[in-house]
Amino acid sequence: MPSQLSFPAIGLPPIGEGFATRIAESVYWLRMPMGADGINVWALEDGDGWTIVDTGLRSAETVTAWHHAFTRALDGRPILRIIVTHLHQDHSGMAGWLAQKVSAPLWMTRLEYLTLRALGAHTVDQVPVETIRFYKSVGWDEDDLDHYRARVVDFRNMLYPPPNSFRAIEHGERVIIGDREWIVAVGSGHSPEHASLHCPQERLLISGDQVLPQISSNVSVQPVEPEADPLSQWLASLSAFRNDLPDDVLVLPAHGRPFFGLHARIDALLNGHEHRLERLLFELTTPRRAIDVFPVLFKRDIDKMMLELATGESLAHLACLRGRGLVIDEVDSDGVRWWRAL
Ligand SMILES: [Zn+2]
Repeated sequence: MPSQLSFPAIGLPPIGEGFATRIAESVYWLRMPMGADGINVWALEDGDGWTIVDTGLRSAETVTAWHHAFTRALDGRPILRIIVTHLHQDHSGMAGWLAQKVSAPLWMTRLEYLTLRALGAHTVDQVPVETIRFYKSVGWDEDDLDHYRARVVDFRNMLYPPPNSFRAIEHGERVIIGDREWIVAVGSGHSPEHASLHCPQERLLISGDQVLPQISSNVSVQPVEPEADPLSQWLASLSAFRNDLPDDVLVLPAHGRPFFGLHARIDALLNGHEHRLERLLFELTTPRRAIDVFPVLFKRDIDKMMLELATGESLAHLACLRGRGLVIDEVDSDGVRWWRAL
């Protein structure tokens, strides 16, 4: 853990019990069930009711947790608005359920909402031919593909259907919540148009997955857009956060504990990626496939469970070097993509 970060002694709210920890005068921290640490969601006092930021994974446990929250942390007062930072299911999973249950509008950036709707519109009876072509091109063998086919999940089972309408939020927009102003800060690379919320008055930043204290957010090339360069977008987003946001905010991340040290954390994330890019470039003096460079990028061995994630991240680093004009990629007659330094 980077030493420049500090974690104020704030009591951890119990996971899934609907009790909250007060962070500031009008800001409360709840944890919804997910793994050992849960996922953080935030309740902001909003006049006579609440604005909720992020909603948790779709599960029976999270439904129970929200029912507890209604009467405990939220004290029977209405939820007036639901803001979701981005489309990933641990953030958006309960938005549809919650919006219907409490008749509150969903606020989200346009690209996150529309992508969420698009992902939910398809059935996955069969893995698309483009996806198979994509994973063959990175170097997966038949065994890898079979394993992938066997465990691919229908995205629609992972969240309640989102509401059919929404309120779009945009970068720089000022959202009045209660008597506080929160400014939307958009980032890209982890998801298409991720929204964080900055409250200058309270010196708070609800960072979603944009800045996390312990883990580096996943940045992956996906089969749907094989030529994408999400890591360049991610690095640019982090640099913009570093330039635009003050260092003295208490960061309220989606995973892990609230912390001080926004700029130090961003610097560590930026440096981490740059070091990996340097090592990767050195490795590419010989042509390599995406799966060949795992040892350069990851400390741990990549098993079949990790393969999809590692492949996406590996491609993100390769595409970033290509975007910088330092490497090229060529597809051979078998459809396999080889990367080499120029
Ligand atoms: Zn995420």
